[in-house]
Amino acid sequence: MNLPHVQIITFGCQMNVCDSERMAEILQAAGYTVSLGGEDDAVGSADVLIVNTCSVRAKAEQKALSLIGTYAKQENPPLIVMAGCMAQVHQRELLGKVTAVSHFVGPNDYYRLPELLGGSLKGRKVWTNEPQCGEAHDFIPAACSHTGPSAFVTVMKGCDNFCAYCVVPYARGPERSRPAQDIYDEVKRLTEQGVQEVSLLGQNVNSYKGSGSVATFADLLRYVAEVPGLKRLRFMTSHPKDLSADIVKAIADVPNICKALHLPVQAGSNKVLKAMGRGYTREHYLDLLQMIRSYVPDIALTTDILVGFPGESESDFLETASLVELADYTDLFVFAYSPRPHTKAAELVDDVPQKEKVARLTKIVEIQNIHSQKHMEKLLGKELKVLVEGPSKSDKSLITGRTEGNKLVHFSADVKPGSLVTVKITAIGTHSLRGELCHG
Ligand code: SF4
Repeated sequence: MNLPHVQIITFGCQMNVCDSERMAEILQAAGYTVSLGGEDDAVGSADVLIVNTCSVRAKAEQKALSLIGTYAKQENPPLIVMAGCMAQVHQRELLGKVTAVSHFVGPNDYYRLPELLGGSLKGRKVWTNEPQCGEAHDFIPAACSHTGPSAFVTVMKGCDNFCAYCVVPYARGPERSRPAQDIYDEVKRLTEQGVQEVSLLGQNVNSYKGSGSVATFADLLRYVAEVPGLKRLRFMTSHPKDLSADIVKAIADVPNICKALHLPVQAGSNKVLKAMGRGYTREHYLDLLQMIRSYVPDIALTTDILVGFPGESESDFLETASLVELADYTDLFVFAYSPRPHTKAAELVDDVPQKEKVARLTKIVEIQNIHSQKHMEKLLGKELKVLVEGPSKSDKSLITGRTEGNKLVHFSADVKPGSLVTVKITAIGTHSLRGELCHG
């Protein structure tokens, strides 16, 4: 019997990308044919469509529902499974409303997909379970194979922080850390399969809790970096309130830990940070940046900014703008606030008009563009190590790779994906660099 072809479309964060890769690996190990894609991928002709959804912003939810609607209108629509945060948070409301979806599976149940997919498909059924403290089924599995030079490895799931705007703790449950030995073994298996670069993932990796000699996230970084053959180690996301000097020292000391850090600040006004429940002040955050740069002067620092949080006045916003100036990030992601169900902020009046949110977002982008450009200019003429990903998407005659600071570089060379080569930077664009191979 031919097992169905499963197409997985992913919305949202890297945690979701990682989860989709794991779903694919689990299903492939069970004999399914699986294709993976992002939200922009063309409508395919799979037997089963898994939409891995994101609930962090209302827009991401609307896009997922619109994609499901498009598939449902096909002449022979696939069986549609909703996975991810929407499935976990909204399953009860969606069950009656989005009839095109046959099954809902939350992030805690992906390990059961082959069993659920194989045995079900007969009538309507909700698979999702409430996430439970200490449960670790979702830290999947041994016998999966991975292709490509980079991979994500989950080190912890869930979040205990309950920032006022964020739905993640409701969708992903409480924090659960994975045993260090399991993480090490998975990274080792991946490097044996040709992976050169691993990104350790968690909603707040800095609060990782291990045991024995690998008790903290700093210990974990040093431990995993020792996996033979691992060329690059990255991690995200870091919460500023939990970032220790030991983590920064590990970045400084260990050659294969990338000199890059994503440290979401969200806002620059103490009043707004307090209302968001972030657990740090503007002053503490700026002190952290100083400490980080004292250990790793050339670190590539990036952040997230949320504008238009309830009660954010013009002067609060100006404090955020001034923090972005002072922080001198290499890059940032900026979002406009939208209320999310279940969260504390959803009970507040969403009082910043949409037009004003867009104006504030645009202002942050304008400030950051100047800093991003300045950081790019500093790279001009430098010889940088670049991990080759494959042919460039925009020009197939070129190869694309990434620097340690996560910048895309396009260059001409006959080198395989996964090669770590030296490239001299010859030109800069808005979001990427051009270069020439030095030796390979
Ligand atoms: S730390 Fe805050 S923003 Fe990040 S996942 Fe947890 S609740 Fe959400």
